Amino acid sequence: MLMWLRKIIYSLNLDLRKLILCLAAFSVFSLFIASLLVSYYVQKKELIQNALSVNLEYAQKIANGTDSHFSIMQHELAYSAALLGQNFNNAQLRQTEVERLKYQSNYFNSVLISDSTGRFLSYAPAQLKLNTNVVNHTIGVKSSLQKKAAFISSPYYSIKNNLIIFISQPIFDQQHRYLGFIAASIYLKQDNILNQMLASKYGYKKNYMYVMDSSRRIIFHPNGKRIGETVKNNTGLDAMTHNKQGSIRLINSLGIDNLAGFARVPSTNWIVVSQQPTHELLDQANKIIYKILFGMSLFYILIFLIIWRVAYLISNPLSDLAKMASDLSHPEIDEKIKQVEPWFVEVLKFKISLLLSSQYFKQTINELNYHVNTDPLTGLYNRRGMDLFIDDLVKTNTEFAVIFIDIDHFKKINDTFGHDKGDLVLKELAAYIKSNFRSDDVCCRIGGEEFVVLAPIFDLDFSYSLAENLRKSLENHQIDLVGTITVSIGIAYWPLSSKNVETVFKIADQNLYRAKNEGRNCIRM
Ligand code: GH3
Ligand code: MG
Ligand code: MG
Repeated sequence: MLMWLRKIIYSLNLDLRKLILCLAAFSVFSLFIASLLVSYYVQKKELIQNALSVNLEYAQKIANGTDSHFSIMQHELAYSAALLGQNFNNAQLRQTEVERLKYQSNYFNSVLISDSTGRFLSYAPAQLKLNTNVVNHTIGVKSSLQKKAAFISSPYYSIKNNLIIFISQPIFDQQHRYLGFIAASIYLKQDNILNQMLASKYGYKKNYMYVMDSSRRIIFHPNGKRIGETVKNNTGLDAMTHNKQGSIRLINSLGIDNLAGFARVPSTNWIVVSQQPTHELLDQANKIIYKILFGMSLFYILIFLIIWRVAYLISNPLSDLAKMASDLSHPEIDEKIKQVEPWFVEVLKFKISLLLSSQYFKQTINELNYHVNTDPLTGLYNRRGMDLFIDDLVKTNTEFAVIFIDIDHFKKINDTFGHDKGDLVLKELAAYIKSNFRSDDVCCRIGGEEFVVLAPIFDLDFSYSLAENLRKSLENHQIDLVGTITVSIGIAYWPLSSKNVETVFKIADQNLYRAKNEGRNCIRM
């Protein structure tokens, strides 16, 4: 894994700046995603929790409101029942009561009075045209007769084929004998006080409400067609039928994910459900997230730009120094290194060590040059060193003498005293030559026992006298064990002898040859 990463980094040819930027981009991007995910998750959870509580609260309010409506209805019927108990056979009174109940308020769709056998004595509205001569056996009638107490039915289809709820109160005379009942019905599929209250429209964020009885039959629903239907395949049914109230996320019979709150109507045991599709709510969360996304991305872009700039400031002095590190031979490199602004400690350390390296490098180069250009035995310049000086002298147009010096019969010294002693003689003569000439004169050993002095001159005699001094003083100079040695000397001048340096050397060599031939220990020019 690490190997792969390294390979990729190598192949990308990343420098420090790019690396910092990649790292920054990675951290900024991952922080961005993480904070986005967290805020989305928190938002979503919060919205769902709120929706569940709001739906529960709403269902509770509606359940309580419905309950108090039923209680008022029962009271109204009870009042009439008490009145009729005193004068049950008064047809006029019965008719007045059913009409008063029907028209005084808009609670009931129809009102009727039945005797103790189930025969209807009076009813309103008149359009119903009920047969008053037959005994009725509908669920409402049978249950009212059996119970002889206040009763609210589950929804069922009436004789006139209306889906109704039947609400009844028993009628007793003063001796507490059962005379029959007064009942009212609410047509579930028509406009009535309950569905007015239950708001049959869709509300905020597609919130809506429906009511089912304890056998899961829909009593109210914004979609009127579903009234009377039995609820099936709803994942919240168990919780709703086993608890008095609560909230739950469920999949309804249409397969839609909903956030629901539910509560019971105590008098009827109906379940009021207030719910809204989850996706409606999450759409809202998504919109919020888009806004956050926009706001945050501006912020993160700003951070990234700042990091971009800082990365440049961090990497720039380091990459400058790195470039200079590979160019230490440049003559002005020290000046360049000194110009780098060390605004953090690594740069300072790098800068100092680079300066030290540069100095060490120069020193080493100087030493190397010294070794390359000098003769190890005598410490004089070798041929290479000599050539450098010739170039300088020619370039600066400095007139100079080329003085060739060769030891006479050196073979003999080697033969007599040995090669090592011969070396010592060469060393001593070198020192002697050096001390005899001026500090500006360039003393070189260019072959076995052949020496050359390049002497910048103002007049020819002066160089000759320097050479003559050497030759003469050597005659008296004692060298340990060996005694004295003599030298022959040939001289030529640049540019006097020739403008071509090589020719000047040849002439000097020829002059030396002449000196040898003409008896040695002499100078020819
Ligand atoms: P001449 O007067 O003609 O110059 O005679 P010479 O014997 O000096 O002859 P030549 O200059 O031709 O001989 C050079 C000798 O110098 C040959 C060699 O043995 C000796 N020689 C050359 N290089 C070295 C060296 O590095 N050390 C020693 N000890 N001897 C060297
Ligand atoms: Mg020689
Ligand atoms: Mg010689």
